[in-house]
Amino acid sequence: MAGNAIAQQPAHRWAIVVHGGAGVIERATMKPDTEKAYRASMQQATEAGAKVLDAGGSALDAIEATIHILEDDPLFNAGKGAVFTAEGKNELDSAIMDGATLKAGAVAGVTRTRHPISLARAVMDKSPHVMLIGPGADAFAAQSGLEMVDPSYFFTERRWQQLLQQLKKENRPLPARPAGAPPEPGQPVSALEPPDAHKYGTVGVVALDKNGNIAAGTSTGGLQAKSWGRVGDSPIIGAGTYASNQSCAVSGTGTGEYFIRLTIAREVCDLVRFKGMKLQDAADQVIHKELQDLHGDGGLIAITPDGQMAWSFNTPGMYRARLAQGGQLHIGIYNDEP
Ligand code: ASP
Repeated sequence: MAGNAIAQQPAHRWAIVVHGGAGVIERATMKPDTEKAYRASMQQATEAGAKVLDAGGSALDAIEATIHILEDDPLFNAGKGAVFTAEGKNELDSAIMDGATLKAGAVAGVTRTRHPISLARAVMDKSPHVMLIGPGADAFAAQSGLEMVDPSYFFTERRWQQLLQQLKKENRPLPARPAGAPPEPGQPVSALEPPDAHKYGTVGVVALDKNGNIAAGTSTGGLQAKSWGRVGDSPIIGAGTYASNQSCAVSGTGTGEYFIRLTIAREVCDLVRFKGMKLQDAADQVIHKELQDLHGDGGLIAITPDGQMAWSFNTPGMYRARLAQGGQLHIGIYNDEP
Protein backbone atom coordinates (compact mmCIF):
# COMPACT_ATOMS: atom_id res chain seq x y z
CA MET A 1 0.00 0.00 0.00
CA ALA A 2 1.33 3.46 -0.86
CA GLY A 3 2.60 5.22 2.24
CA ASN A 4 0.20 8.14 2.05
CA ALA A 5 -2.92 6.21 1.03
CA ILE A 6 -5.92 7.16 3.15
CA ALA A 7 -7.28 4.19 5.04
CA GLN A 8 -10.80 3.47 3.81
CA GLN A 9 -13.49 3.61 6.45
CA PRO A 10 -15.69 0.56 6.22
CA ALA A 11 -19.04 1.66 4.72
CA HIS A 12 -22.06 1.16 6.94
CA ARG A 13 -25.09 -0.71 5.75
CA TRP A 14 -27.74 1.99 5.32
CA ALA A 15 -31.23 1.52 6.74
CA ILE A 16 -34.48 3.47 6.96
CA VAL A 17 -37.69 3.15 8.97
CA VAL A 18 -40.81 5.18 8.18
CA HIS A 19 -44.13 5.69 9.97
CA GLY A 20 -47.33 7.24 8.67
CA GLY A 21 -49.15 7.59 11.99
CA ALA A 22 -50.62 5.34 14.67
CA GLY A 23 -54.21 5.08 15.83
CA VAL A 24 -57.47 3.18 15.58
CA ILE A 25 -56.64 1.81 12.16
CA GLU A 26 -58.49 -1.48 11.77
CA ARG A 27 -59.09 -4.02 9.04
CA ALA A 28 -62.82 -4.05 9.71
CA THR A 29 -63.24 -0.39 8.78
CA MET A 30 -60.55 -0.12 6.12
CA LYS A 31 -61.68 -0.14 2.50
CA PRO A 32 -59.45 -2.33 0.31
CA ASP A 33 -58.69 0.56 -2.03
CA THR A 34 -57.72 2.83 0.85
CA GLU A 35 -55.42 0.17 2.27
CA LYS A 36 -53.81 -0.34 -1.12
CA ALA A 37 -53.25 3.40 -1.47
CA TYR A 38 -51.58 3.61 1.97
CA ARG A 39 -49.30 0.67 1.23
CA ALA A 40 -48.32 2.15 -2.15
CA SER A 41 -47.58 5.53 -0.59
CA MET A 42 -45.48 4.00 2.18
CA GLN A 43 -43.52 2.05 -0.42
CA GLN A 44 -42.92 5.07 -2.64
CA ALA A 45 -41.77 7.25 0.25
CA THR A 46 -39.49 4.59 1.77
CA GLU A 47 -37.89 3.82 -1.58
CA ALA A 48 -37.25 7.52 -2.18
CA GLY A 49 -35.34 7.73 1.10
CA ALA A 50 -33.51 4.49 0.38
CA LYS A 51 -32.37 5.85 -2.96
CA VAL A 52 -30.75 8.83 -1.27
CA LEU A 53 -28.99 6.57 1.25
CA ASP A 54 -27.88 4.11 -1.41
CA ALA A 55 -26.28 6.92 -3.39
CA GLY A 56 -24.27 7.85 -0.29
CA GLY A 57 -26.55 10.70 0.80
CA SER A 58 -26.89 11.68 4.45
CA ALA A 59 -29.55 10.40 6.81
CA LEU A 60 -30.84 13.99 7.02
CA ASP A 61 -31.23 14.24 3.23
CA ALA A 62 -32.99 10.87 3.12
CA ILE A 63 -35.40 11.97 5.83
CA GLU A 64 -36.21 15.20 4.03
CA ALA A 65 -36.77 13.41 0.70
CA THR A 66 -39.02 10.81 2.29
CA ILE A 67 -41.08 13.30 4.27
CA HIS A 68 -41.53 15.57 1.23
CA ILE A 69 -43.42 12.76 -0.45
CA LEU A 70 -45.58 12.12 2.60
CA GLU A 71 -46.23 15.85 3.13
CA ASP A 72 -47.42 16.11 -0.48
CA ASP A 73 -49.62 13.03 -0.13
CA PRO A 74 -53.15 13.91 1.07
CA LEU A 75 -53.47 10.51 2.77
CA PHE A 76 -51.23 11.62 5.61
CA ASN A 77 -51.72 14.15 8.39
CA ALA A 78 -48.74 16.25 7.34
CA GLY A 79 -48.43 19.02 4.76
CA LYS A 80 -51.32 18.73 2.28
CA GLY A 81 -53.97 16.58 3.94
CA ALA A 82 -53.21 17.78 7.48
CA VAL A 83 -56.08 17.74 9.97
CA PHE A 84 -57.91 20.97 10.84
CA THR A 85 -57.95 22.89 14.08
CA ALA A 86 -61.33 23.59 15.70
CA GLU A 87 -61.15 27.03 14.06
CA GLY A 88 -60.85 25.42 10.63
CA LYS A 89 -57.15 25.99 10.02
CA ASN A 90 -54.19 23.76 9.21
CA GLU A 91 -51.37 24.40 11.70
CA LEU A 92 -48.31 22.29 11.02
CA ASP A 93 -45.53 21.10 13.34
CA SER A 94 -42.23 19.47 12.40
CA ALA A 95 -38.77 18.64 13.70
CA ILE A 96 -35.51 17.16 12.49
CA MET A 97 -32.44 16.12 14.46
CA ASP A 98 -28.93 15.09 13.45
CA GLY A 99 -27.51 12.28 15.57
CA ALA A 100 -23.93 13.10 14.57
CA THR A 101 -23.89 16.67 15.89
CA LEU A 102 -27.00 16.83 18.11
CA LYS A 103 -28.09 19.80 16.02
CA ALA A 104 -31.86 20.11 15.77
CA GLY A 105 -34.52 22.29 14.16
CA ALA A 106 -38.23 22.48 14.90
CA VAL A 107 -41.29 24.52 13.94
CA ALA A 108 -44.81 24.72 15.30
CA GLY A 109 -48.05 26.24 14.05
CA VAL A 110 -46.88 27.07 10.53
CA THR A 111 -49.59 27.73 7.95
CA ARG A 112 -47.88 28.82 4.74
CA THR A 113 -44.80 26.64 4.27
CA ARG A 114 -45.39 23.79 1.85
CA HIS A 115 -42.80 21.48 3.43
CA PRO A 116 -42.53 21.99 7.20
CA ILE A 117 -39.75 19.38 7.41
CA SER A 118 -37.58 21.58 5.18
CA LEU A 119 -38.35 24.55 7.40
CA ALA A 120 -37.24 22.53 10.44
CA ARG A 121 -34.07 21.70 8.52
CA ALA A 122 -33.54 25.38 7.67
CA VAL A 123 -33.96 26.32 11.35
CA MET A 124 -31.26 23.75 12.16
CA ASP A 125 -28.87 24.67 9.33
CA LYS A 126 -29.41 28.39 8.83
CA SER A 127 -30.47 29.89 12.16
CA PRO A 128 -28.87 30.01 15.60
CA HIS A 129 -32.12 28.63 17.08
CA VAL A 130 -33.75 25.27 17.58
CA MET A 131 -37.45 26.15 17.51
CA LEU A 132 -39.56 28.77 15.72
CA ILE A 133 -43.34 29.13 15.86
CA GLY A 134 -46.26 30.64 13.96
CA PRO A 135 -45.96 33.60 11.59
CA GLY A 136 -42.31 34.12 12.54
CA ALA A 137 -41.49 30.59 11.44
CA ASP A 138 -43.31 31.13 8.14
CA ALA A 139 -41.45 34.41 7.64
CA PHE A 140 -38.16 32.59 8.18
CA ALA A 141 -39.24 29.99 5.60
CA ALA A 142 -39.86 32.71 3.01
CA GLN A 143 -36.55 34.35 3.86
CA SER A 144 -34.80 30.98 3.47
CA GLY A 145 -36.20 30.58 -0.03
CA LEU A 146 -38.56 27.71 0.79
CA GLU A 147 -41.74 27.19 -1.21
CA MET A 148 -44.60 29.22 0.27
CA VAL A 149 -48.29 28.47 -0.36
CA ASP A 150 -51.67 29.97 0.44
CA PRO A 151 -53.09 28.29 3.58
CA SER A 152 -55.87 26.83 1.40
CA TYR A 153 -53.23 24.65 -0.31
CA PHE A 154 -53.44 22.30 2.70
CA PHE A 155 -57.24 21.93 2.46
CA THR A 156 -58.67 18.50 1.66
CA GLU A 157 -62.38 17.71 1.64
CA ARG A 158 -61.80 14.51 3.54
CA ARG A 159 -60.15 16.20 6.50
CA TRP A 160 -62.70 18.99 6.45
CA GLN A 161 -65.59 16.56 6.68
CA GLN A 162 -63.81 14.64 9.46
CA LEU A 163 -63.47 17.87 11.42
CA LEU A 164 -67.14 18.72 11.02
CA GLN A 165 -68.10 15.18 12.06
CA GLN A 166 -66.03 15.38 15.22
CA LEU A 167 -67.19 18.89 16.19
CA LYS A 168 -70.85 17.92 15.68
CA LYS A 169 -70.38 14.83 17.81
CA GLU A 170 -68.82 16.93 20.56
CA ASN A 171 -71.46 19.67 20.25
CA ARG A 172 -68.88 22.30 19.48
CA PRO A 173 -69.34 25.28 17.14
CA LEU A 174 -68.64 24.68 13.45
CA PRO A 175 -66.17 27.02 11.73
CA ALA A 176 -66.91 28.55 8.33
CA ARG A 177 -65.53 26.76 5.29
CA PRO A 178 -62.02 28.20 4.83
CA ALA A 179 -61.37 30.97 2.31
CA GLY A 180 -59.89 29.57 -0.88
CA ALA A 181 -61.27 26.05 -0.34
CA PRO A 182 -62.95 24.49 -3.38
CA PRO A 183 -66.76 24.65 -3.42
CA GLU A 184 -68.53 22.05 -1.32
CA PRO A 185 -69.07 18.83 -3.28
CA GLY A 186 -72.59 17.61 -3.98
CA GLN A 187 -72.23 14.06 -2.62
CA PRO A 188 -73.12 13.02 0.89
CA VAL A 189 -70.28 12.94 3.39
CA SER A 190 -70.35 9.18 3.88
CA ALA A 191 -69.65 8.57 0.21
CA LEU A 192 -66.55 10.70 0.38
CA GLU A 193 -64.57 8.93 2.98
CA PRO A 194 -64.18 6.01 5.30
CA PRO A 195 -64.65 6.33 9.04
CA ASP A 196 -63.10 9.02 11.12
CA ALA A 197 -60.47 6.53 12.23
CA HIS A 198 -58.49 7.88 9.33
CA LYS A 199 -57.85 11.20 10.98
CA TYR A 200 -54.44 9.74 11.87
CA GLY A 201 -51.36 10.05 9.73
CA THR A 202 -48.50 11.96 11.31
CA VAL A 203 -45.34 11.00 9.46
CA GLY A 204 -41.83 10.25 10.69
CA VAL A 205 -38.56 8.82 9.44
CA VAL A 206 -35.39 7.55 11.09
CA ALA A 207 -32.38 6.69 8.97
CA LEU A 208 -28.80 5.38 9.13
CA ASP A 209 -26.46 6.44 6.34
CA LYS A 210 -23.31 4.88 4.91
CA ASN A 211 -21.17 7.10 7.14
CA GLY A 212 -22.75 5.54 10.20
CA ASN A 213 -24.76 8.63 11.15
CA ILE A 214 -28.38 8.47 12.25
CA ALA A 215 -31.10 11.14 12.23
CA ALA A 216 -34.81 11.52 12.91
CA GLY A 217 -37.59 13.68 11.46
CA THR A 218 -41.31 14.10 12.12
CA SER A 219 -44.05 16.17 10.45
CA THR A 220 -47.70 16.55 11.42
CA GLY A 221 -50.87 18.60 11.45
CA GLY A 222 -51.22 17.58 15.11
CA LEU A 223 -54.49 16.47 16.64
CA GLN A 224 -57.74 17.10 14.80
CA ALA A 225 -59.92 19.85 16.32
CA LYS A 226 -57.06 21.16 18.47
CA SER A 227 -57.52 24.68 19.86
CA TRP A 228 -55.69 27.57 21.50
CA GLY A 229 -52.43 27.10 19.60
CA ARG A 230 -52.00 23.57 20.93
CA VAL A 231 -48.63 22.00 20.05
CA GLY A 232 -47.98 18.27 20.35
CA ASP A 233 -44.86 16.19 20.78
CA SER A 234 -43.71 16.03 17.16
CA PRO A 235 -41.66 19.28 17.20
CA ILE A 236 -40.51 18.86 20.81
CA ILE A 237 -36.95 17.56 20.81
CA GLY A 238 -36.77 14.55 23.11
CA ALA A 239 -40.54 13.96 23.05
CA GLY A 240 -41.63 13.12 19.50
CA THR A 241 -38.25 13.43 17.81
CA TYR A 242 -34.70 12.68 18.95
CA ALA A 243 -31.40 11.46 17.50
CA SER A 244 -27.94 10.83 18.92
CA ASN A 245 -25.19 8.68 17.42
CA GLN A 246 -24.45 7.60 20.98
CA SER A 247 -27.75 5.80 21.29
CA CYS A 248 -30.55 5.92 18.71
CA ALA A 249 -32.92 7.99 16.58
CA VAL A 250 -36.66 8.00 17.27
CA SER A 251 -39.82 9.45 15.74
CA GLY A 252 -43.12 9.08 17.58
CA THR A 253 -46.81 9.29 16.77
CA GLY A 254 -49.85 9.27 19.02
CA THR A 255 -51.52 11.53 21.55
CA GLY A 256 -48.69 14.00 21.91
CA GLU A 257 -49.46 15.10 25.46
CA TYR A 258 -48.31 11.69 26.78
CA PHE A 259 -45.24 11.69 24.57
CA ILE A 260 -44.24 15.08 25.96
CA ARG A 261 -44.78 14.08 29.57
CA LEU A 262 -42.73 10.92 29.13
CA THR A 263 -40.16 12.51 26.76
CA ILE A 264 -40.60 9.28 24.88
CA ALA A 265 -37.99 9.62 22.17
CA ARG A 266 -35.21 10.50 24.59
CA GLU A 267 -36.40 7.82 27.01
CA VAL A 268 -35.91 5.07 24.41
CA CYS A 269 -32.43 6.39 23.65
CA ASP A 270 -31.51 6.55 27.34
CA LEU A 271 -32.54 2.93 27.88
CA VAL A 272 -30.28 1.97 24.97
CA ARG A 273 -27.38 4.15 26.13
CA PHE A 274 -27.42 3.79 29.90
CA LYS A 275 -29.06 0.40 30.39
CA GLY A 276 -27.52 -1.26 27.34
CA MET A 277 -30.91 -2.45 26.16
CA LYS A 278 -31.53 -3.77 22.67
CA LEU A 279 -33.46 -1.20 20.65
CA GLN A 280 -36.62 -3.28 20.29
CA ASP A 281 -36.73 -4.02 24.03
CA ALA A 282 -36.28 -0.33 24.85
CA ALA A 283 -39.03 0.69 22.41
CA ASP A 284 -41.40 -1.94 23.79
CA GLN A 285 -40.72 -0.97 27.39
CA VAL A 286 -41.50 2.68 26.69
CA ILE A 287 -44.65 2.00 24.64
CA HIS A 288 -46.10 -1.07 26.33
CA LYS A 289 -45.13 -0.21 29.89
CA GLU A 290 -44.50 3.50 30.43
CA LEU A 291 -47.01 4.88 27.89
CA GLN A 292 -49.53 2.19 28.73
CA ASP A 293 -49.28 2.94 32.46
CA LEU A 294 -50.32 6.54 31.75
CA HIS A 295 -53.14 5.26 29.49
CA GLY A 296 -51.49 7.00 26.56
CA ASP A 297 -51.74 5.74 23.01
CA GLY A 298 -49.36 5.74 20.07
CA GLY A 299 -46.19 4.28 18.67
CA LEU A 300 -42.68 4.96 17.50
CA ILE A 301 -39.99 3.95 15.07
CA ALA A 302 -36.30 3.80 15.96
CA ILE A 303 -32.86 3.00 14.59
CA THR A 304 -29.31 2.66 16.00
CA PRO A 305 -25.93 3.39 14.40
CA ASP A 306 -25.22 -0.37 14.41
CA GLY A 307 -28.27 -0.95 12.23
CA GLN A 308 -30.91 -2.15 14.69
CA MET A 309 -34.39 -1.12 13.53
CA ALA A 310 -37.50 -1.18 15.70
CA TRP A 311 -41.12 -0.17 15.85
CA SER A 312 -43.58 -0.47 18.67
CA PHE A 313 -47.18 0.74 19.15
CA ASN A 314 -50.11 0.07 21.48
CA THR A 315 -52.82 1.14 19.02
CA PRO A 316 -54.70 -1.19 16.65
CA GLY A 317 -52.54 0.03 13.80
CA MET A 318 -49.58 2.10 12.66
CA TYR A 319 -48.64 2.72 9.02
CA ARG A 320 -45.02 1.64 8.87
CA ALA A 321 -42.21 0.48 6.60
CA ARG A 322 -38.56 -0.43 6.85
CA LEU A 323 -35.77 -1.25 4.47
CA ALA A 324 -32.07 -1.95 4.96
CA GLN A 325 -29.35 -2.20 2.34
CA GLY A 326 -29.53 -5.62 0.68
CA GLY A 327 -32.78 -6.45 2.48
CA GLN A 328 -36.44 -6.54 1.55
CA LEU A 329 -38.99 -3.78 1.97
CA HIS A 330 -41.33 -4.57 4.82
CA ILE A 331 -44.65 -2.72 5.12
CA GLY A 332 -47.25 -3.08 7.88
CA ILE A 333 -50.50 -1.45 8.98
CA TYR A 334 -52.30 -3.58 11.60
CA ASN A 335 -51.05 -4.90 14.93
CA ASP A 336 -51.29 -8.53 13.84
CA GLU A 337 -48.64 -8.02 11.17
CA PRO A 338 -44.95 -8.54 12.00
N1 ASP B 1 -48.31 13.11 17.93
C1 ASP B 1 -49.07 14.03 17.14
C2 ASP B 1 -49.51 15.17 18.04
O1 ASP B 1 -49.88 14.92 19.18
C3 ASP B 1 -50.29 13.43 16.51
C4 ASP B 1 -50.15 12.05 15.93
O2 ASP B 1 -49.08 11.49 15.92
O3 ASP B 1 -51.16 11.50 15.44
O4 ASP B 1 -49.53 16.30 17.58
